[in-house]
Amino acid sequence: MNLVETHAHLDFDAFDGDRADVLDRARAAGVSAFVNVAIDLEQAAEATLALAEAHADVYAAVGIHPHGAGAWAGRVDQAVARLERLAAHPRVVALGEMGLDFYREYAPPEAQYEVFDAQLALAARMGLPVVIHCRAAYEQVLPRLEALPAERVLLHCFSGEEHAAACAERGYYIGVGGVLTYPGSEGLRRVVAAYPRDRVVLETDCPFLAPQPRRGRRNEPAYLVWVAEALGRVWGVTAEEAAAVTSRNAARFFGWEGSDGL
Ligand SMILES: [Zn+2]
Repeated sequence: MNLVETHAHLDFDAFDGDRADVLDRARAAGVSAFVNVAIDLEQAAEATLALAEAHADVYAAVGIHPHGAGAWAGRVDQAVARLERLAAHPRVVALGEMGLDFYREYAPPEAQYEVFDAQLALAARMGLPVVIHCRAAYEQVLPRLEALPAERVLLHCFSGEEHAAACAERGYYIGVGGVLTYPGSEGLRRVVAAYPRDRVVLETDCPFLAPQPRRGRRNEPAYLVWVAEALGRVWGVTAEEAAAVTSRNAARFFGWEGSDGL
């Protein structure tokens, strides 16, 4: 099975005790590439770039998570300058995760808008794809993506079931992970079944959202196998086929096609 992990947080301290083993278990399960996603411009970005430098199969995305937007509100110029320097690193394949979260709302909406818009403008200027975190905020995120169009858009941990048709029409990629395996996710499975197959990629969002057999415990990229099995059932294909299609999609999204990235 050839799997691509499009959204991991392997820099989190949940992996401090066994990070190398976690990577090796995933490789043994068929994961050929990992994108580690930073949630801030400080420790997470530094640790993410260090991981990508240490492992030829680990790539980096850098950005400011909406939960941390409050720290940069009112001085987004500084954030953008810093992000632009980080994004120039040769192992950075996307900007993110960035977006809006009105489910938790750890940062005030105005701060979230300001920091998200600034990152979208930078992505457009740099020609980089964007990894979007969107929770209870599709009605605010979608117009922003239209106003500040990025090269390519990936809606990570997709949950915008009522907005799926609009997202498909705009050619956005969606990331599916452990949630697809949960018994209560019938609505999501219906949406994924109808979504264009060349726009679906796999992710764990580890250490969060472990798939069904490990639900509630720490997630890790080796568990992508269960997500591929669930997607195969949704599509009516084998897990291997679902893995192959989503890996090709990931390569196209991150710009590895025609390179030696995979
Ligand atoms: Zn994430």
